[in-house]
Amino acid sequence: MTDFPFKLPPFDPGTVWLAGAGPGDPGLISVLAWHALCNADTIVYDALVTKVILKGAPNNAELIYAGKRGGKPSHNQEDISNRLVQLAGEGKRVLRLKGGDPFVFGRGGEEAQALVRAKIPFRIVPGISSGIGGLAYAGIPLTHRATSRVVTFLTGHNANTVTSTSVDWRAVAKGSQILVFYMTLRNIAEISKLLMNAGRSQKEPVAFVSRATLPDQQVVITTLQNAARDSKEIPTPALVVVGETVNFCEELDWLKL
Ligand code: SAH
Repeated sequence: MTDFPFKLPPFDPGTVWLAGAGPGDPGLISVLAWHALCNADTIVYDALVTKVILKGAPNNAELIYAGKRGGKPSHNQEDISNRLVQLAGEGKRVLRLKGGDPFVFGRGGEEAQALVRAKIPFRIVPGISSGIGGLAYAGIPLTHRATSRVVTFLTGHNANTVTSTSVDWRAVAKGSQILVFYMTLRNIAEISKLLMNAGRSQKEPVAFVSRATLPDQQVVITTLQNAARDSKEIPTPALVVVGETVNFCEELDWLKL
């Protein structure tokens, strides 16, 4: 590995590093996460981790896939957490690698809680979340003095389920100029209706940012009114971005300049 002109923390045996790999472009992984990858005994990784990154692992490192298959969870959260505890208990340096940032819709909090309960030392290594890095690669400034000073990250997954963490759609529609949705493509018909009913304009621009930061990234611009219709052919994973700031994409889509 390249020598860095600063000191990196040691990755000790018997510890877990819970790290984000970034949104897709392998170059967006952090130095700390790369350092962990180069020194790991075991890497437990998710579906959204770009596979080429794993080539940085030592030849004898054990690679464990803990993602989903065909949209169905093939590994439940409790099993994954238990696995991390068990591997660290065996004295391994365990890298738990997730797409984007582990604490943004990544269940990193739940895994960290399991490690605390089991008294396993761990470190959180943030990653560039797709809702930030993906928008930058689409030429959509998350904030811009002309259009947005308030940003909300949210998920449209289970939008109609009433739980203690349910979304207050009226408050969101009123209070935030830009809305960045994760895991929402399949629910966009429902979500766009909820937003329009809560006062957002039918004409408001919407961007689908598909496979953001990857070579086949695709940005499709539409309106709230037509979002459901235009979502049909969008490959996953994708973000849904609602707000005037989406219009900057035309001018700032630097990948196409
Ligand atoms: N922890 C991740 C999010 C995991 S939830 C992060 O911080 O980015 C999975 C959702 O993230 C997907 O449904 C999609 O909405 C979004 N996502 C992840 N990677 C993406 C990418 N490269 N392009 C577009 N959306 C992405």
